[in-house]
Amino acid sequence: MNYLRRRLSDSTFISNLPNGYMTDLQRPDPSPPPPAAPAKSPTAGPTPPATSPNPERKAQPAQSSGAGFFSSITNVVKQTAASAGLVEQTTVTTPKKFKILLVIDEPQQEWAKLFRGKKVQGDYDIKVEQAEFNEINIVAHANGTCNVDMQVLRNGTKVVRSFKPDFVLIRQHAFSMTQNEDFRNLIIGLQYGGIPSINSLESIYNLCDKPWAFAQLISTYKKLGAEKFPLIEQTFYPNYKEMVTMPTFPVVVKIGHAHSGIGKVKVDNHSKFQDIASVVALTQTYTTTEPLIDSKYDIRIQKIDNDYKVYMRTSISGNWKTNTGSAMLEQVAMTDRYKLWVDTCSEIFGGLDICAVKAIHGKDGKDYITEVVGSSMPLVGEHQAEDRQLIADMVLVKMNQLAEKPPANPPQRPTTIQPSQNGGAKDLVAELTTKPGAGRPPQGWHNSKPQVQTEAAPQAQGEPSAQPQSETPFQNPVKAWSHEGQPPVEQESTEEKTRAHPQLNKSQSLSSAFGLKETSFFRTASEDVAKAETIRNLRKSFASLFSD
Ligand code: ATP
Repeated sequence: MNYLRRRLSDSTFISNLPNGYMTDLQRPDPSPPPPAAPAKSPTAGPTPPATSPNPERKAQPAQSSGAGFFSSITNVVKQTAASAGLVEQTTVTTPKKFKILLVIDEPQQEWAKLFRGKKVQGDYDIKVEQAEFNEINIVAHANGTCNVDMQVLRNGTKVVRSFKPDFVLIRQHAFSMTQNEDFRNLIIGLQYGGIPSINSLESIYNLCDKPWAFAQLISTYKKLGAEKFPLIEQTFYPNYKEMVTMPTFPVVVKIGHAHSGIGKVKVDNHSKFQDIASVVALTQTYTTTEPLIDSKYDIRIQKIDNDYKVYMRTSISGNWKTNTGSAMLEQVAMTDRYKLWVDTCSEIFGGLDICAVKAIHGKDGKDYITEVVGSSMPLVGEHQAEDRQLIADMVLVKMNQLAEKPPANPPQRPTTIQPSQNGGAKDLVAELTTKPGAGRPPQGWHNSKPQVQTEAAPQAQGEPSAQPQSETPFQNPVKAWSHEGQPPVEQESTEEKTRAHPQLNKSQSLSSAFGLKETSFFRTASEDVAKAETIRNLRKSFASLFSD
């Protein structure tokens, strides 16, 4: 009997079961022998084994014992899968009572204190996670899950966190052509993960190329006219090749996309222009040129939600770029004209919650609009604290609005395997293979070091817990194995198999999950039937044995 027990526990034995037989075994016996005279008719049931002295007595327990035994096979399969890390264990999670707000900003700006005591829907606290772009990484899945890994220095301690943000406020430039300042991949990740944001991720992405944004200003200029919307003259060169002549000098050459005066050169004559063109040739980027305005001051009209402020900046040090060297900043009165500029610009790219229009006021008394900037604009002037509060209030309003909306139901994959009544172990195995990356341990990018303090925020309430909050965390999103993900190559091969043999998929899954011989799945149907019949008979016989 021990031999039989071992035999039935043997995974090779399972592999030799005909397709669908596991299901069959788990179903109640379709025709249990009538309790009155089970053994008297040779057709009423299988011949009782010679060792069974009383088949009537054994018949009833045989069923329950048999079912119990085969469900124990299922359990063995489950346990094996779990111990191999192929199955996610059920975890009882308490509902989260807070929303996570990710703020991308430099650490000097403490956003957490602006949200202290604030609630979303009067119910959820707001947990602020603040980091700079270069301190975060993102893994986003098509099912709507988006995990942010963050590694920040707090009071000299490296803190590593992994969480799913509910909202993101972006206060840093997502892109600059200066070295290591291209974070558009993170903007894509957030967009992919469907994280709501201020400003919208779409607008942030679109503002990542100044000439692209300037093209929007050209449209506005065409609509409103030069009188209402005095846009500066500008010429765009996709590369250095066409930078041959300029009609007038001096000009300002603006190379590529950069901030804080970087890449802006004043050019007085043709030969210098050619020199600059030769430098642009090395950059492999675009360039724009504008006439150099003999400037009296710069103007900045900012709009945060419905709050408008206008600033005037005058160079003190004499640098033609008023944002380089020392300058004087004054707040000036808002006018209808300025309001029109900023209101019109706040409508581009689907709307900018936070924006500013930059212009130059020339000594000729004319205004020249040069640029529109979004939520990454640095705050200036005496009212920065107020502006920050305005931004925080706007974030709060948006988070509340989002909480009111019924959440979109992303396609969810099962995270815990519950063998169904009908499917039994077959479904278990099928689910194992729909979670192709399951079981593989996350491969660390940077392993946490002893001094690293790791914190993990809980998952959002009612959201798929496909990627549990990581306790170990700062992982390379490229290398990391999420519970839902897997390397493309392997996924491809699994899908390939599914397409090739759709009806065999579950059994093949069994094979691939447990390393069984593939050959066992290429039997003929009659072989299957014969084997099924034999095993059904054996089961009934064994059931009698086991109940001894
Ligand atoms: P940001 O940091 O806002 O992304 P930036 O500072 O790198 O932009 P600009 O604002 O275009 O680039 O230029 C910097 C400064 O140079 C302006 O504030 C302005 O004082 C001056 N400037 C720019 N364009 C002109 C121009 N065509 N004529 C005269 N001065 C200009």
